[in-house]
Amino acid sequence: MTVSAPVLAAPAAEPVLRRPSLVGRTRVGLAEALAEIGVPEKETRMRVGQLWNWIYHYGVRDFSAMTTIGKGLRAQLAEHFTLDLPEVTAEQVSSDGTRKWLIRMAPTGPRDRGAEIECVYIPEVDRGTLCVSSQVGCTLTCTFCHTGTQRLVRNLTTEEIVAQLMVARDRLGDFPGRTPPEGAFVPSDGGRFVSNIVFMGMGEPLYNFDGVRDAIAVISDDQGLSLGRRRITVSTSGVVPQIGPLGDEMGTMLAISLHAVRDELRNELVPLNKKYPIKDLLEACRTYPGLSNAKRITFEYVMLKGVNDSDAEARELVRLLKGIPAKINLIPFNPWPGTRYECSDWERIERFSEIVFRAGYASPVRTPRGRDILAACGQLKSETEKLSARARLMLEQGEVEQSTALAG
Ligand code: SAH
Ligand code: SF4
Repeated sequence: MTVSAPVLAAPAAEPVLRRPSLVGRTRVGLAEALAEIGVPEKETRMRVGQLWNWIYHYGVRDFSAMTTIGKGLRAQLAEHFTLDLPEVTAEQVSSDGTRKWLIRMAPTGPRDRGAEIECVYIPEVDRGTLCVSSQVGCTLTCTFCHTGTQRLVRNLTTEEIVAQLMVARDRLGDFPGRTPPEGAFVPSDGGRFVSNIVFMGMGEPLYNFDGVRDAIAVISDDQGLSLGRRRITVSTSGVVPQIGPLGDEMGTMLAISLHAVRDELRNELVPLNKKYPIKDLLEACRTYPGLSNAKRITFEYVMLKGVNDSDAEARELVRLLKGIPAKINLIPFNPWPGTRYECSDWERIERFSEIVFRAGYASPVRTPRGRDILAACGQLKSETEKLSARARLMLEQGEVEQSTALAG
């Protein structure tokens, strides 16, 4: 496959704490910003509505474009805040149209250079899916997942989660009046470029419950980004106590990273299983709020050669899920440097899928996307350390303006 040359931005000099950005804020967050600059309380609701519309519906990047707001207030806003999006430090476009952005979040303090996360856009015929991260890294250590090997871990803020969608729409020209970049997939039905969101990037979303919940409220608000909750899927490795609250408070679709049908093996693949074994996990699924045939749970099952891919395991999978409105998503394992696993052979995956299909489940095998840019599931890993080392070298060599390969 061909890969476009990723573009690496010049490394940040000493981090400077800037005016805060309003992008990504909830309505409450915007109201606080207005209070800070002395906007009278009786105006707050109206002003928040105006800001909301400009920021999330139109995606404007400059206060001066907010023509429904008086010049005086616009100037005041610009003096104290920005509409900056986090910096995209690298962009890669796969030959299949998948786009991966490496996004550097604004520094949170004087010593912070800004955490980096990855965000992937996957265009398909009938939809465009954005795979977002909920944390920098992940504290869980699933043995087949690249993210789990990363040392630096923190929760992303609500703003940082929302910002991933804002960056994607900005880059794709997916706001009214904007032009998409050359070669971009353009929805033929006039729909949005990003029609679906999956929390399948870095991190365990249910370990960042409040951040994810508030971000989903912003993203699904129909006065702004308008992405319906049925088009948002939260994937969890099985944080059982938070599954019910997820349904109650977020009302999104649920995906469970199951990957094994016996506790012994799942303990090894998904160590969180030792705390919340399969039986408890499936019980939480059975009682997931809003569950119905129209709102099924997706069970993800990564195909690992000789580990979890036998006929007997396929049959056991079907038996376990009996009575739960479910879809089964077989994911070919995406290898990464240093992994001990291999992807099951294609015939094995087909055979496994056939058993599941015969039992009445649609069992699409997820086509690996963006493999050439290491953007497929489980390959998201920020290159912070690698980048900064390389950036230092480039600085020393006076080559900061040059492009360089990121994943190479
Ligand atoms: N932490 C959450 C969400 C992020 S992981 C979770 O585990 O569900 C998103 C999905 O990618 C999960 O199903 C995860 O198990 C899967 N995954 C991780 N590494 C993978 C790999 N190397 N190949 C294929 N799928 C992988
Ligand atoms: Fe974390 Fe999910 Fe990767 Fe497990 S599979 S380490 S929970 S990101």
